Amino acid sequence: MIIAVDFDGTIVEHQYPDIGRQIPFAINVLKKLQQEERHQLILWTVREGELLERALDYCEQQGLKFYAVNCNYPEEIFEEGMSRKINADLYIDDKNCGGIPDWGVMYRMIKSGINDIRCLDDFMFEDDNIPVKKKNFLIRLGETWDLIRGRKY
Ligand SMILES: [Mg+2]
Repeated sequence: MIIAVDFDGTIVEHQYPDIGRQIPFAINVLKKLQQEERHQLILWTVREGELLERALDYCEQQGLKFYAVNCNYPEEIFEEGMSRKINADLYIDDKNCGGIPDWGVMYRMIKSGINDIRCLDDFMFEDDNIPVKKKNFLIRLGETWDLIRGRKY
């Protein structure tokens, strides 16, 4: 699956033109989606020139390299009259209507092949068979950490 992912406010906190703090697990989840789930990641950002290079360097320093940046494939050259929209199967962007879930939830949704926002609550519960209340942020954070490190429950 081709996944277009935004940078500011999505991978890092929105501090444009600076680079904000990383949003918890963003890069680890993206690396896992790329390396283990074999999804193709395209960085889709308003950043250009030096600001774009800084964002790419930031990601590469942490081992995340995108298949393409602001285009559909690495060799694509933008020409006048071409659509700027990336042809992706899925878009991850903090400006999404309703915002975006945390990265642990997104990982579970993408891995399961269900990215319908109406199913969001299903990915925030531990076990579908047991009525449970929503877990707080710290518990989900810990579980996401375990998930990314490969621990199974
Ligand atoms: Mg953004």
